Amino acid sequence: ISMLDETLLFKWMTEFDHQIQTDKAYLSGLDAEIGDGDHGDNMARGMSAVMHTFKTPNQSVAEQLKAIAFALISKVGGAAGPLYGSAFLRMSKAAVDTQQLDQLIQIGADAIADRGGANFGDKTMLDVWAYVPAMLEHHTLSSAGLAQLAAHTKPMQAKKGRASYLGERSVGHLDPGAVSSQELFQALLKAQSA
Ligand code: ADP
Ligand code: MG
Ligand code: MG
Repeated sequence: ISMLDETLLFKWMTEFDHQIQTDKAYLSGLDAEIGDGDHGDNMARGMSAVMHTFKTPNQSVAEQLKAIAFALISKVGGAAGPLYGSAFLRMSKAAVDTQQLDQLIQIGADAIADRGGANFGDKTMLDVWAYVPAMLEHHTLSSAGLAQLAAHTKPMQAKKGRASYLGERSVGHLDPGAVSSQELFQALLKAQSA
C-alpha cells in the first residue's frame, strides 16, 4: 500500500506544477472550447502559490496539505479552485489519521462530489478523480489509463459548470478539469517512480 509522506507530497506537487506550467496554454485552450478559456491560467497561478507553501519548513503531511488547499482556494479561483481546494482540505484533515494514498484520494473525490454536486458522467474533474482510488488500491493506475479517463469526457454532455450552459454543444470536447486532474495523477505516478 502506498503512503503519502512529506517527500512524496513535495515530489508530487513539483511534478504537477511543472506539467501545469508547461500545459497552461493547452488547458486554457480546452477551456476556450466549452468554457471561458482560463483553466490553464487559473491552475498555473494556483500551482505557483502551492510551490511557495513548501518554503515553510518541517510541516507534517496534514499541515502541508492544508497549506496547499488554502493556496488553491485563494489563487486558482473560478470553479476549479474551490473544488481542488476542498479535495486537499479534506485530505489534510484525514491525513492526521491515515496516510494511505488510495484512502486519501477517495476522501478528496468525495469532497469534490459534495462541494460541486456532480455525478459520474457529468463531464467534470470527478470523472477522473472518482476512478483513481480503486486503481491505486489494485495497482492498476497508469499514465495511459489516466489519459483514457480524461478522454472519456469527450463524448459526454456537460451537466455542471460553465460547459453545461452549452448543452449538447459541449459534446465532442475534452473537459479541461478532467485533463488537469489526469495530469495531477500522472504527476503522482512520476513522483512515485522518481
Ligand atoms: P471556471 O469554469 O469558473 O472558469 P475553471 O475553468 O478553472 O473554472 O475550471 C473548470 C473546470 O471545473 C471544469 O472543466 C470542470 O472539470 C470543473 N467543474 C466545474 N464545475 C464543477 C462541478 N460542479 N463539479 C466538479 N467539477 C466541476
Ligand atoms: Mg474556465
Ligand atoms: Mg473562469
